[in-house]
Amino acid sequence: MIIPQLGHLTEEQITEIRTIAAEFNCTIRPIEGNEMSVYAIIGDETSQLLVTRIEGLDYVKRVDRIQVPYKVLAKNSLHTQAKMILGGKELGKEFVVIAGHCAIDTKNPNLFYETAQAVKEAGADALRGGVWKPRTSPYAYQGDAKALEILIEARARTGLQVVTEVMEYDEVKLCVEAKVDVLQIGARNALNYRLLTQIGQMTAGTGIQVLLKRSIHMGPVDEFILAAEYIAGSGNNNVMLCPRGTLPSMDGYRNHPDESITQLLKARTWAPVVVDPSHSVGKSLYVPKAALAAAAYGADGVIMESHCRPVQGTGDDPKQAITPAVLAKLIPELRAVAEISKRISL
Ligand code: PEP
Ligand code: MN
Repeated sequence: MIIPQLGHLTEEQITEIRTIAAEFNCTIRPIEGNEMSVYAIIGDETSQLLVTRIEGLDYVKRVDRIQVPYKVLAKNSLHTQAKMILGGKELGKEFVVIAGHCAIDTKNPNLFYETAQAVKEAGADALRGGVWKPRTSPYAYQGDAKALEILIEARARTGLQVVTEVMEYDEVKLCVEAKVDVLQIGARNALNYRLLTQIGQMTAGTGIQVLLKRSIHMGPVDEFILAAEYIAGSGNNNVMLCPRGTLPSMDGYRNHPDESITQLLKARTWAPVVVDPSHSVGKSLYVPKAALAAAAYGADGVIMESHCRPVQGTGDDPKQAITPAVLAKLIPELRAVAEISKRISL
């Protein structure tokens, strides 16, 4: 739908728009009102170039799309969603909890094994552990490829599927070889479209799932879904969307909590939503309630930082990891709230 700057378009302006639309096999139908007219685009209006060209005309205020611009991930897409199973649970049917260290400390592997066992006993469905860390400061701990072995060993010991973040091609390759179950693309790389495409191609047909965090700089909900579409459109439909807070932060929290966008994501896409309350609020004290809020908003799961001894942690753990004891209390409540949320949607 084309909204003009002024009330109505002139005949010449309509002709110019019709010519552009024809290149995309679309036609224009004016819907005339007294004060103002709008102009419907008839045909497939999902082409970004079509919208950009029309929006570039100085007499056009904006173009509102009725059809969504993502083809694979749209809620009513013809592409069928492969069932995504994590920890034996089907995403969307049962609430899943991913928990574990922000970063794996290669100098102390036992700490990670201890946490892995403890989060399993607390009821977590999958284990997170950062191998390579994207750090704001170049002087902070950057992670270590050796941690990948520790992650895989923890999987063998506990039977929990594992999640880790990848930032570049070589890391994706190593993780695909090691059959890491879920690859995380973090907030900093959520706008790295080449990496998103590569990851979609490299994991296509492997059964590996991708958890895409929302960038701290993302605004519109569609911007987030379109980033995920890069992965799905290049061969891997198994994508989870992960709101994790954006900037500017809310005074007192690490970021601006955004678990409420779960409802909007769910209205537009079939992709499961797994919220990260840890990076959103950034303080262990606030994490449990943020996680409950995510469940209330209808998330399919949460990913949380948890550490058996947070003070000994590297990365974000000392400030935002919850202990397995807190996790054990929280998980049944999360599942209960998720069930209530489902009932409310009916
Ligand atoms: C993390 O999961 O530890 C992390 C760095 O996340 P984000 O990309 O959301 O900051
Ligand atoms: Mn972290």
